Amino acid sequence: MSGRAFILGNGPSLAHTNLDLLEDEVTFGTNRISLIYPHTKMRVKHYVRKEGMELFNKPETSLWADDALYHLNDPNCHTWMNPWFRVRLSEFGEGKDWHNEKPGMITWIGACAHYLMHYDMDSCPVSWHLPNFCSFGSSVTVAIQIAASLGYSPIYLVGCDLGYQDGKPSHFTSDYEKGYEKMLQPARYANMDAIMGHIIAKRSSPAPIYNATKGGALEAYERVEYESLFT
Ligand SMILES: [Zn+2]
Repeated sequence: MSGRAFILGNGPSLAHTNLDLLEDEVTFGTNRISLIYPHTKMRVKHYVRKEGMELFNKPETSLWADDALYHLNDPNCHTWMNPWFRVRLSEFGEGKDWHNEKPGMITWIGACAHYLMHYDMDSCPVSWHLPNFCSFGSSVTVAIQIAASLGYSPIYLVGCDLGYQDGKPSHFTSDYEKGYEKMLQPARYANMDAIMGHIIAKRSSPAPIYNATKGGALEAYERVEYESLFT
């Protein structure tokens, strides 16, 4: 048995969560988690992205690449990203093909047929389909599948606030959306696709999942108080 794991979303509550407590825990981070690093000693042990080919529409500033490269360069971090990252990162990572770096610590995960689906479509999935990860929902719901597949149990969520609003920042730092303002999806999809992804996780996960987020709008799981997990 692998023990417990923590999955970090990037919601506003993360700025008010003592992440130093997670320094020696198994942690999964997603997307722009590295923007919190100036404020904590914690570095995630697993880094997960679910975007695919739409990377080619991302700003040519290397904002998205900076986060990926940070974790690829961290010798203690296992990265889980779509193969399109491998293609595009060679533009930013000094031409390096990361595939043969850090043996066993870099996994390329393909998208499934539910990638880019929304909660209101007939083809919206109703359950996971392991061993292939379901890319419906968010990077967080992909990270939950990876943690469960690796045998971690229970799984605790932190910083998973939801509560997206159109045209407003919705993460732990106002820098988060910088450069992406015109690319944000409608808040309705951001909220409802994430909630549906969590409902599917609740149905499908062999490991119990608890929400240790401080506040927020995610009620798909039983809540636990974050600090109580460290006494
Ligand atoms: Zn799927």
